[in-house]
Amino acid sequence: MIKKWTFHRALTTNGWADDLTLFTDDGLIIEPSEDYDKSETVKGIALPPFQNAHSHAFQYAMAGLAENPGANPNDSFWTWRNSMYSIAQSVGPDELEDIAALLYHEMLRNGYSSVAEFQYLHKDPSGKLYEDIGEMSLRLISAAKRVGIAMTLVPILYQNGGFNSPPAGSQSRFTLTREEYSDLLSRVEKEIDIKVAIGFHSLRAVDIETIASICSADKWEAIHIHIAEQLQEVNDCISATGLRPLHFLNEHVNLDKRWNLVHATHLDRKEMDILLQSSANVVLCPSTEGNLGDGVFPIREYNARKGRWCIGTDSHIGLNPFEELRLLDYGSRLVTHKRISFSDTSYEDLALALYNNGKAAMNQTSGFLTQGTMLETMVIDSSHPLLETDHLISTLIYHFDPSVVLGMIVNGAVSYT
Ligand code: ZN
Repeated sequence: MIKKWTFHRALTTNGWADDLTLFTDDGLIIEPSEDYDKSETVKGIALPPFQNAHSHAFQYAMAGLAENPGANPNDSFWTWRNSMYSIAQSVGPDELEDIAALLYHEMLRNGYSSVAEFQYLHKDPSGKLYEDIGEMSLRLISAAKRVGIAMTLVPILYQNGGFNSPPAGSQSRFTLTREEYSDLLSRVEKEIDIKVAIGFHSLRAVDIETIASICSADKWEAIHIHIAEQLQEVNDCISATGLRPLHFLNEHVNLDKRWNLVHATHLDRKEMDILLQSSANVVLCPSTEGNLGDGVFPIREYNARKGRWCIGTDSHIGLNPFEELRLLDYGSRLVTHKRISFSDTSYEDLALALYNNGKAAMNQTSGFLTQGTMLETMVIDSSHPLLETDHLISTLIYHFDPSVVLGMIVNGAVSYT
């Protein structure tokens, strides 16, 4: 079906446009057409939707439950991880699908059109493979399709409990052999309407030789890994390898734009240079990183030096993308005593870069509102007087919440309104 769309205002790759008209054929943006079957006028402002490049859906079930004042004076990432492991132990296939469906609906409501699911909950609670090795992954795919969010599944290889140590009992649902991981990838690649990327839980959880070997295959367009999130993890890496995490990874793999480094919070000068030269993408999750006391990523310097980055919501303690950007910037302002961490660019360029970097991280087609892509946009309610401004995107980021999101169009269909 050919459809004509008119948006009252839109940000395009060529700047702002009033009364933008687009034509789609079954959701795919095509050349303007004299003949069309249906016409729809969208009252609002079309903006690049947010891309959620890092999610562990099951952790949504514990949002807020690990905040217990006075329960443990030494509460840390590592004690939080014990709570997370006990939640992981209680989630079966049905629960996972229900949690994910609720979460993905909330993501759409908050302005995310796509999610990359960093999935390592592979086995049953006793540590046995399900009859279908993809059981848990398929439930996430099913949840995404039910809700109408675009998905990239990132099956995760997890093998060790730490550098040179076997997995603990609480990690038994996560671990796969290399052969099982291969089988899982083959299984999920058969699914239609989703994309697949590969991933490794962390340097502590997978041997570097295995990482290097799997990544040497050219077929993988996007590779994900948690790295340098916690200081203890950095120190453990130095003890085990003699090198800091990003430096160690770069010594063993061809670090390039296919790589998506989740957190990368703790970088020294050399690692910052390595990262920028590699064109790898960093996936920042400010609300989770703040919640877990990870540290502050040096966004001011990284942005000024044209580093690639996008955002994710990781544990889902926060789901508001405007807040993610605000937290990222304010964390930097508090540390550097300077304002505006994104000062090298316009906020329009920032919105488009976040979209394109997020799409690349998800191995999905980028190019906002361009011919040959599926129509996908976030529609903002333009009725608030504060939004009658030439500084629309900064006003949204620093002042508003997602209640201004009127609706979402994903894959050419209205997913949330
Ligand atoms: Zn994570």
